[in-house]
This record gives sequence, C-alpha cells and structure tokens, in this order.
Amino acid sequence: DDVSVEFPVQGGVPGFSRRVLRAVNGVTLQVRPGEAVGLVGESGSGKSTLGRALLGLEPVTNGAVSFDGTRVSGGTRAALDRLRRETAMVFQDPYGALNPRLTAAQAVAEVLEVHRKVPRSEVAARVSELLELVGLRPEHGTRRPASLSGGQCQRVGIARALAVEPRLIVADECVAALDVSIQGQIINLFMELREQLDLSLIFIAHDLAIVRRLCDRVAVMYLGRIVEEGPTEQVFTDPRHPYTAALIRAIPEIDPDRPLPATPLDGDPPSPMRLPPGCAFHPRCPHARSECRGDPPPAERTEPGRRWSCILGPGTVAPLTTKQPETD
Ligand code: SF4
Ligand code: MG
Repeated sequence: DDVSVEFPVQGGVPGFSRRVLRAVNGVTLQVRPGEAVGLVGESGSGKSTLGRALLGLEPVTNGAVSFDGTRVSGGTRAALDRLRRETAMVFQDPYGALNPRLTAAQAVAEVLEVHRKVPRSEVAARVSELLELVGLRPEHGTRRPASLSGGQCQRVGIARALAVEPRLIVADECVAALDVSIQGQIINLFMELREQLDLSLIFIAHDLAIVRRLCDRVAVMYLGRIVEEGPTEQVFTDPRHPYTAALIRAIPEIDPDRPLPATPLDGDPPSPMRLPPGCAFHPRCPHARSECRGDPPPAERTEPGRRWSCILGPGTVAPLTTKQPETD
C-alpha cells in the first residue's frame, strides 16, 4: 500500500540536490491467493526492488507491505519470520543462485533442514519429491551446478523455493538467461505448479509474451510507479496507457495477421534521479500535451479491475490487434 523504496546515493548527482534514489515510488498492488501477477517494464523501472521489498528483503521507506492481513514492513519480528517462511524468490541467474559445491539434492536438503527444520530421517524422501515435482530425475540430484544445464539449475532453484512450501513466489526474470526452448519448459512448469499447489506468483519480466501466457493480471511499471494495471488479456488487447501500448508494439511476433511490424520503443527512460515533472513518460509519449508536463502528475483513472495513470480516457491509445500466441 503506497510503498516507496529509496536508496542513498553517495555524494549525490552533480547539479542535483536530491541524495536519494527513489527506486519504487508510491506503489499499491494486491496479489490474491492462487493468482499470478506479472510485473513488467524496462530495466530500471523498479520491478526487482519492488519484488524484494514485498518479501521483506529491502526496507520500505514509506507505505506498508502486508501479507495475509498482517503488516510485515516495520511490523513485528514474528510477522517478518512468517513472511520468510511462506514466501520465496527465484532469481535470474540459475548458476549464480546455487552454491557450486553442493549437489542438486544437497542444495534442496539445505533449505529443508535450515528453514523448515525437517527431521533428518525425512529429508531424503522430501528432496526426491521436490526434484520430481520440478521435472528432474534422481540422477540429477547427485550433480553439482557445473554438471547441470541452465534450465536444470533453474529447476533446482525452483525446487529450493518450493522446499519452504511457500504460498507466494516472486520470480525475478527467472527465464531471461535461458534458451527460448528451455524458457517454455520453465513457464509450463510454473503453470503446472500454480495449479497443483495453489501458489500465488509475482512474475517479474521484461518479456511481455511470457507474462501474457502465464499471468492473470499485469502491472506495468515506469520509473518506480505502476502506470497501468489490469487483467492480462484486457491490458494486451486494449491498453490504456501509451507506455503499455508502446511496450506491446515492441514485442517481436511472427503473426501473419498482424497489421503492423513491431515498433521498438524510442529512447531510454530518464534517470530516476532526475524525474521529469508531471507524467514521467511525457518526454517519450506521442500523445503528450501541455497538461501532462505540470505537477501534480495526472490522476489515476479507474474502471472495475483496471487503473491507469494518464490524462487519456478509454479508446484513445490505438487499439492493438495482436492475438494470444498458441500455447504448446
Ligand atoms: Fe502521455 Fe500525457 Fe498520458 Fe503521460 S499523461 S502517458 S504524457 S498522454
Ligand atoms: Mg531487475
């Protein structure tokens, strides 16, 4: 609820008085049980920082994070401990996230012993179950990361996350480092696990096609703010914020019915240290008008299940006709 995360900047930025970087700026987001929410946006938009803040891994400088009705940011030690027990994170770099000295089975056993206090006698059986759950065979359990492929390492990372029996997983660009074919397998795995375990998922990705396949809702971040949020298919077929529309147009897609080729989004986002006044997207927005440039920034518009921060109403951003790609 209205979460901000700020980092001090050593010495500040020449010519600028601010000495903090606000990586997340007044974000409100809800994730329901069993729901998969995609968090998208260019790099530097604050997605990872928000994901870490939601899991108590990053201190929140303003606003509040609550889990299952209990406030965890600035809350009691017990609330934070419970959050740590019931949530887990899957990281981008499948090799870097694993201890090179531990076999896959040992890496999973470590989580069971340290975080779940599973009795020694039960660990081996639980490890086998978890490896099977993520589609690894028993012989993979005896291998160290160097003898496993990137996709296999990511499965070990997911098995470690599942070992805490989480109710919420935050996956941060967890397939970005993998080959496209392996990406599909890991996405399918997440889809199966969600069904089987009734997991909530926050899926951080810059790849919108993956989010479209996996997520019920999508939140689009730009320079620390959520600029649009809504049900995935509605956002993809009828985006309301020009930034969302630009991201969607930038997706390369092989679709003979698509009327227009993919259009890359021009320019880079400005530095979060020097946010433009008004709507932070105005320097790149094809629809920008004078009222977009003044403070306060444009108010949020809402419709049931949807919100977007733009002066434009429904039907103003060019409708998009891209189709949901066939799932395999
Ligand atoms: Fe573009 Fe103005 Fe909407 Fe910002 S508020 S996205 S500048 S039209
Ligand atoms: Mg990131």
